[in-house]
Amino acid sequence: MTERRQVVIVGSGPAGLTAAIYSARAQLAPLVIEGEPSSTSDQPGGQLMLTTDVENYPGFVDGIMGPELMASFRGQAVRFGAEMVTAKVSRVDLASRPFGLWVGDPDAAEPTYAAEALIVATGARSLMLNLPNEQRLLGYGVSTCATCDGFFFREKEIGVVGGGDSAMEEALFLTRFADKVTVIHRRGELRASKVMQQRALANPKISFLWNTTVVDVLGENKVTGVRVRNTLSEEESDHPLSGLFVAIGHEPNTGLFKGQLDMEENGYLRTFTGTRTNVDGVFACGDVQDHEYRQAITAAGSGCMAAIDVERWLEDEKAASA
Ligand code: NAP
Repeated sequence: MTERRQVVIVGSGPAGLTAAIYSARAQLAPLVIEGEPSSTSDQPGGQLMLTTDVENYPGFVDGIMGPELMASFRGQAVRFGAEMVTAKVSRVDLASRPFGLWVGDPDAAEPTYAAEALIVATGARSLMLNLPNEQRLLGYGVSTCATCDGFFFREKEIGVVGGGDSAMEEALFLTRFADKVTVIHRRGELRASKVMQQRALANPKISFLWNTTVVDVLGENKVTGVRVRNTLSEEESDHPLSGLFVAIGHEPNTGLFKGQLDMEENGYLRTFTGTRTNVDGVFACGDVQDHEYRQAITAAGSGCMAAIDVERWLEDEKAASA
């Protein structure tokens, strides 16, 4: 039996849960399909579940742990009447209203939920190297966000993996804290734009390990180094480091919406006038539509915008059909 809902929110990071808080307080009884615990994506709570201290979220003088912050977001949404379902959406049909959402068997004849309005807050994930000890040390020296974690590496030596603009940006940012930043790149030339290359190459705190791949991250409870392999000689060696920033790109979680929602060339959802997508009644917020800022606070802000946009849209729809 399909359950009919006024507002369904897919995703439970800062964007989805802020949209839930606002739409619950607007008496829209939102249903949040929060994802399922998994390794690096789709986990309830989003990317902040993979970090430790969050020191740049306003309002916490001494910082807060990522999972604790997300538990507070969730508790606040539930307090105002948002309903949470721990599940993954397997298919959506946005061709007509109400929109169909399947949980579980994507081939089931009937959708699990029919939504009058939909907020997409499925976020993005950092591409990872898939090394044996990378996930275990994520948050304990392995990071995907210099803006979030750079501060913890004052006067340390750290590594950045990647040769694109993200890696150069992370490396440059990290020189504010670290004594030495080593960029580890798998080729002999950078992919980054000329200006970013020049800035990184000219920075005395940045050195480069060329033609080098990371084979594994070393350390018991925190990162103590990396094992690297020279791609030309095949020789392996250990390199002591206090932290490793993986900056090989991000990927938005938009697979569900391919062919149904307009996307930018890089796969991020396209939004117009606030959080509207090309499908009337479908709104998008957070990292799934933002490849520029990617911060918890900006995601939360756009979640608030999506809830307000939905509320106004539903009112307009009601007025039009009266
Ligand atoms: P990117 O341009 O795709 O670069 C990814 C880098 O990671 C490449 O150097 C790639 O190596 C390396 N890489 C990928 N997979 C790897 C693996 N498995 N092992 C080791 N290395 C791997 O991604 P990005 O740097 O995130 O940039 C994405 C887009 O955002 C770009 O268009 C970029 O210009 C833009 N951006 C702009 C700015 C800015 O202007 N300030 C900042 C960040 C991003 P290869 O080079 O060998 O492929």
